[in-house]
Amino acid sequence: METIGFIGLGNMGLGMSRNIQRAGYPMVVYDIREEATKPLLENGARLASSPAEVARLSDVTLTSLPGPNEVEAVATGPEGVLEGIREGSVYVDLSTSRPTLIRQIEPLFRQKGAHALDAPVSGGKSGAITGNLAVMVGGERELFDRIKPVLDSFGDKVFYSGSIGAGSICKLVHNMIGHGVRQAIAEGLTLGVKAGVDAESLWECVRRGSLGQMNILHRGIPGSLFRGDFDRASFALELSRKDILLANELGREYDVPMPIANLAEQMAIQAINRGWGDRDAGVTFLLQEEAAGVEVRAPHVDPEKAGKFITTHPDAE
Ligand code: NAD
Repeated sequence: METIGFIGLGNMGLGMSRNIQRAGYPMVVYDIREEATKPLLENGARLASSPAEVARLSDVTLTSLPGPNEVEAVATGPEGVLEGIREGSVYVDLSTSRPTLIRQIEPLFRQKGAHALDAPVSGGKSGAITGNLAVMVGGERELFDRIKPVLDSFGDKVFYSGSIGAGSICKLVHNMIGHGVRQAIAEGLTLGVKAGVDAESLWECVRRGSLGQMNILHRGIPGSLFRGDFDRASFALELSRKDILLANELGREYDVPMPIANLAEQMAIQAINRGWGDRDAGVTFLLQEEAAGVEVRAPHVDPEKAGKFITTHPDAE
């Protein structure tokens, strides 16, 4: 079986790498927080001392890192993946990152007789644990076919998106729509509560009406929102802001006006300036509550009855 290298064992990377390991692949792992590698090492993975060493020892090297800055450093920096990668091996970035970055990186791997793909994921921390992730892949089709069994070991919805960078573009578009919808939900719920209807009734209405067909309403909103508790981040606001920033950046590059996405970014900036960067991405809801002068609380919403409310991030959809 091919040896799989995994770099970045955070909220997403830990679950994904454990599922690859469970599928029987020998693994080599690395994270700047060495303690994050422990669950993998306990199950037989080998610890590498740098991304270059991971690549040297692996047939396929995967990264799940916060964003483009870390991806660039880990992929092409000193002691990075590029330095160690062997001819014929494949580098796959699973992070939500800048499409133009992977387009710059890919030819460098080709020059070494190796390959690169972008394959961002969607489904949140819970999906990473259960193996219920969408994986959108950009790059050469033959490479996609070659490494698909590895991707299938941690994602149940793996699909080919197009040439290099296409996976990242799909992912930014997905999250951008999620941000806009979340903001609309925040406005609607604060209006409803301020106008005198309780949060449970509003939620029943939204879910049972035609809007209820939207999957975003079945996952990702009420659990923490209706308790006003955003402290346990399964997806940090800091990372969510990076996603919307990258989408707006792409919009500017292609002259696409995106007023809602820009508003969503402004809300994220405000929340970060409150010192909320480490809190869950859904914490922007509190800004809308403050602006509206109302709290939307429904502590008695039964998560089982209302849907699977696992996290507050659009990635969970
Ligand atoms: P995280 O911050 O929990 O994990 C990132 C990991 O990378 C950490 O363990 C960190 O120690 C490690 N790391 C950082 N810099 C490193 C370096 N230079 N070398 C080695 N390791 C390094 O982030 P996350 O929530 O797991 O997200 C990872 C990626 O997946 C991000 O791009 C994010 O946008 C995307 N994503 C997140 C979610 C989610 O719900 N959390 C869902 C879909 C996609």
